[in-house]
Amino acid sequence: MTRIFSGLKPTGHLTLGNYLGALRRWVEVDQHRAEALFSVVDLHALTVEHDPARVRRLSRQAATLMLAAGLDPQRCTVFVQSHVDEHTRLSYLLECTAADGELRRMIQYREKGGQARAAGQSVRLSLLTYPVLMAADILAYGADEVPVGEDQTQHVELTRDLAVRFNQRYGHTFTVPRATHPPVAARVMDLQDPASKMGKSHEPGAGIVHLLDDADTVRKKIMRAVTDSGREVEYDREHKPGLANLLEILAACEGGKPDELAGAYDSYGALKKDTAEAVVDLLRPVRERHAELAADPAGVDAVLRLGAERARGLARPRVDAAFRAIGL
Ligand code: ADP
Repeated sequence: MTRIFSGLKPTGHLTLGNYLGALRRWVEVDQHRAEALFSVVDLHALTVEHDPARVRRLSRQAATLMLAAGLDPQRCTVFVQSHVDEHTRLSYLLECTAADGELRRMIQYREKGGQARAAGQSVRLSLLTYPVLMAADILAYGADEVPVGEDQTQHVELTRDLAVRFNQRYGHTFTVPRATHPPVAARVMDLQDPASKMGKSHEPGAGIVHLLDDADTVRKKIMRAVTDSGREVEYDREHKPGLANLLEILAACEGGKPDELAGAYDSYGALKKDTAEAVVDLLRPVRERHAELAADPAGVDAVLRLGAERARGLARPRVDAAFRAIGL
């Protein structure tokens, strides 16, 4: 059976980008067709300046939202990365397989490292090595597929390279995984700045829709989305990125293709209004279910405890085998 691994970092409140790019497909497709593991990858939240209490709070919130969105612990494994030691054990072995040059080339390292330096902060070594930990997250479970948004493609490529290299040098140990992406909205952009992605770790702003935003906030953010100065509604990612982003969001919510949807509108206002209502309808049940689950934190903890046990049981034999293969 196909095995799937994916995760969410608790670095901020989950966004519509996380939902359309990843979480929704995990719920609607992946958990039904494969043996799937989904993790709150909290160790990755320590790669940049962080507040310990906030990371803990956001981890719980992310796990609660994953369940609220419809991940079913009877069908898949939901757990917190730091509860399973195998990730860090394997990460070290993979660090001994990776070269520093290939990590320095990672776009996210260059972007986030550059931002930290510009803000006068030192860059944590873990920001450089985080793609190796991500490779360990995936390879520990023998995942065949990694359903992610487009921004993670480069990291999955690195994971493949490390798996192949390890297998060649030390004997076949790891499955070589591949990234999968949703058909639309694999890269949701910031509504105020369509040149940058809607990221949860960015400063909360008017261009970022959070899964827990109330209906009026969602409406306001979408109605104020930046578009271009033309009048014609057409799907053109290069020349009309703001409009294309809205069309992709609408297509992801309602089904259909962004370019075909464009033909149904003769004004930006009408498109924004329909997109806003589609997003409100999409997020309403998630928000309601989140409120119910958040009222029972012990219930969420129990799911996570069981998830960690299952995950450990799956990861340990492969990680032990990697230790033996590399000479330990
Ligand atoms: P973030 O960049 O928001 O901190 P994570 O690194 O935790 O998100 O990624 C969680 C998942 O959400 C990944 O599969 C990532 O590709 C996806 N994702 C994040 N932002 C977006 C976006 N703007 N559009 C589509 N998918 C996204």
